[in-house]
Parts: sequence; C-alpha cells; structure tokens
Amino acid sequence: MTSNTQTPHQPQSDPSGQPLVALPDEIAPVVPTFAEIGLHPSILQAVADTGYTVPTPIQAQALPSVMAGNDVMGAAQTGTGKTAAFTLPILHRLMPMANTSASPARHPIRALILTPTRELADQVYESVKRYGLKTPLRSTVVFGGVDIGPQKEALRNGCEVLIATPGRLLDHVEQRTVNLSQVGILVLDEADRMLDMGFLPDLDRIMRLLPAQRQTLLFSATFSNEIRKLGRTYLKNPVELEVAKRNATADTVTQIAYAMAGEAKRAAVVHLVKSRGLKQVIVFSNTKIGTSRLARQLELDGVRAESIHGDKSQADRMKALEAFKAGELEVLVATDVAARGLDVAGVPCVINYDLPHSAEDYVHRIGRTGRAGASGEAISLFSPSEEKYLIDIEKLIKAPVTRGVLQVPGELLARAPVREDTRPARAPRSGGERSSERGSERGNARNARPSRYSAPAKPIDEFFLKPYEPSPAAIAAAQTPAPVGKKPAMLAKRAVGLLLGGALKKAE
Ligand code: AMP
Repeated sequence: MTSNTQTPHQPQSDPSGQPLVALPDEIAPVVPTFAEIGLHPSILQAVADTGYTVPTPIQAQALPSVMAGNDVMGAAQTGTGKTAAFTLPILHRLMPMANTSASPARHPIRALILTPTRELADQVYESVKRYGLKTPLRSTVVFGGVDIGPQKEALRNGCEVLIATPGRLLDHVEQRTVNLSQVGILVLDEADRMLDMGFLPDLDRIMRLLPAQRQTLLFSATFSNEIRKLGRTYLKNPVELEVAKRNATADTVTQIAYAMAGEAKRAAVVHLVKSRGLKQVIVFSNTKIGTSRLARQLELDGVRAESIHGDKSQADRMKALEAFKAGELEVLVATDVAARGLDVAGVPCVINYDLPHSAEDYVHRIGRTGRAGASGEAISLFSPSEEKYLIDIEKLIKAPVTRGVLQVPGELLARAPVREDTRPARAPRSGGERSSERGSERGNARNARPSRYSAPAKPIDEFFLKPYEPSPAAIAAAQTPAPVGKKPAMLAKRAVGLLLGGALKKAE
C-alpha cells in the first residue's frame, strides 16, 4: 500500500501527531461548510434537518476524499462523527444511480458497509436512512441473532446500501439471498475490532465476492500493524486520515489506577459510585459471566446497574442501553465487544473493573469519557496479577497512569462476593449468530480463572448458577424484524446532555 497522507485542514505534523508549525490565528485553517464541500442538495437538506452546521474534523477531511473516489484509511473512534464521514459521501456518489423505479433490479447493492457488531450495524443503518431520507436510495441492514426471514424479504426488494455484520452476510451468501456483484463501494467500519473478533477469514471470503474495481474505505480507532496489513491487502493507494494522535488518550481524561485484591473490587465500585454521586458510569469487565454477575451484585448493593454482553438478546441489550442513556441506571457493566461501537460518548467516568488484556482496548474504553473537550475520569482497579497489563498500557499510551490509594469502607468489604468458580458452564448459544461474531468474548472468558483472592462462595445466588435467559418479552422483541422499518428503542429521543458529547444541535 502506498499511502498519500492528506490532512487538508490541519497543519503538517510529525509522525507522533504533534504539529511541526503552529499556525497563527489569522491563517488558521477554516473548516468548510457541508455546502462548500459540494454535497448533493438532497443530502445537504437531510444534514441541515439533523441539525449539523459544521463538519467534524474527520468529516472535513474524509468527505472530499471519498467524494473524489479515493480509497481512504481513517483513524477515528466512535463519537468523532465518523459514521457521517463515510455515509454522506457514499450517498452523494450513489445519487447519479438513484431512481424511483419499483423494480428490485433497479436497486442493486452498490455500497456494502461491514461492521463488527449488531448495535453498530443498526446505528449505521439509522444514519444512512436519516441522511438518505430525501433521496430515492434504498438501504437495509442484516445482522445475526434475529430472524433471517424479514432480512431476505428486504434484500429481495432491492437496496443500494447494505449494512451487515460479516457472519450474517455470509449466511445470506450461502442461502443465495444476496448479490454482491454490483458493489462499487465497500466500508470496513471499526476494522480493528473486526480483527479482534476473529473476522479475518470471513472478510477474506466476502472480499472474494466483490468486484475488484471498487472504492474501499477502512475506519479503525487505531492503526495497528495488523490494520496496516489489512489496508495493504484490500485498499489501493489510500488517502490516510487521522483525527487524533495514534493510540492517544484524550488530555481531558484523568487516569488513575488503584491496586487492590480482586475481592475488594466490587466494594470499590459501590464506594466510588455512592460516595462521589457518580451518574452514568460504564464499568468494563473482561468476561460475559463476570459482567452479569457484577451488575447483579451492584444491584444488591443498592446501585442501579445493568449488564450488556454478547449472550444477551438484541432486545435486552437495547433495553439496557436505553435505560442507561435515559439516566435510569447509574452503572452499565459491559464487555469490550458489547460496548464497542455503541453511540454512547461523553460519559463522565469509566471504571476498568478488570484491566483489559489488550492495551488498545484500554484506549477504546477510556475514549468513552472526556469527549468534546469535556473532562472525564478513567479509573482502573487492578489486582497484583494484573499489574503487567497496566505496564503494557503505559507503554502503549507512552505515559504513566497515576497510582492512587482507595480507602474502601469496611462494611462494604464485609459483604462476600460470589466466587468466580461458582459460574455455570458456558451458556448455550442464541440462534442465528455465527460463532466468530463473539470470538473475542469467548477468548476472554477462557482467561477468567478463579481469582486467588476470591472470598468464600457465600451467598450463592441461584441467578449465577443458570445460563442467561432472556425474558419472554425480550424473545418476542428479538424475533420481530427490528431492522426493517421499526426504529429501535435505543435511538429514541435522548434526554441526557452528558451523552454524545453534546455535539448534536437538535434532539434526534
Ligand atoms: P459517530 O462518531 O459517527 O458515532 O458520531 C457521534 C455523534 O456525533 C452522533 O450522535 C452524531 O449524530 C453526531 N454528529 C456527527 N456529525 C456531526 C456534526 N457535523 N455536528 C454535530 N454532531 C455530529
């Protein structure tokens, strides 16, 4: 891959991202408006209706490049406006082919957007629908964990833009319900996470089904060596765009790490939330079972908490997310995979209940806080056996994380947690989802050995002895064709100013 780095609205920078020359104010670059960038009027109208006035930095950089037909490698996290950065120019490029014909044949799939998770797929779909509202372009979304029937029907009707998770897309390929021969634009969204989740073989298979002559866009929070290799394989002479320093953590985020025994962590979370009146905290746990258990324990301790992880039904995940966004929960306990790609940004605090085994996950996690210049706090709780991960993190972010001492009240510590080894055998898989979509969580679960700090296994709550069971209502909701036509609850009106970095001008 030969890359031509293009940063039209930023001063030249050295490889670490530091500006080489500080531009005086009077010649500071001016961000063009959406109209100046030359977006199609129908799309401009939808952008204005959404309430966006100024392109975000990644949009100001990506729109002209994508509209010109270049391959693009963009380093941008969720929350930077990256979805619109690729969605808007794709719709613009498809406008010459847009038509109002009722015939499905006149609406072949021309743009394919691949995302690692169902939630992200659904969010991208909502964006495509919103920005394409004033155009005759059709779009649909396919992901695992829900009935494939309505998805087949939507594909039969024809759509110019298809958003998909790799596993379910291949299910459609096998069932011959999707034709990718007309795809001229491919997007790999959150490519780093797709690799983490073991999607590389699926991506290779999909790639072989696409025309060689196409435009490819790759977005990733970080540019690891693996991502660069992917770029060299799938992209042609891409323009490289980067809005934040590589593997950087925002300056506005205060990072602190408290050393403690594993069994003190639950009490520490309760203490932090209650003593400081924290609202809307995302607590990261490395395993699905650990996530469920912690949320349950926090509830018993009087903290309003819910968990979100890969074994939960889509409907349950959305319900938890909606409650969190509405401020009904103090804590959302999440695995990396489940949290990834969620349109939840600008939370005041994230807590690492377990340190991630991959330092890059730390960057993603703390990227949830301190958005749009707001200050945020990232608290890590680490047991002695986890210190090695903290050292890896410090190497990656090239900065020390302050070590602190947390005094946790004795009465909170006195409550015995449920032991790691009381967990049940692996929960049966929910139907429809390919195993690879949850590969990374599976890997983490393997690492969850009983802690040598664990307290005696009392009390054992029945809840922890049985696999996760969605409620009948959740099953019914998951079986309804949510992606086609029905607006998911998670995208309903959001009353919480702390979320989404306050970037949106108008309520959605
Ligand atoms: P994303 O990074 O695509 O997940 O976007 C994060 C949030 O920023 C979403 O809630 C978008 O609606 C919002 N957003 C995207 N572009 C803009 C813009 N130009 N102005 C204001 N908000 C935006």
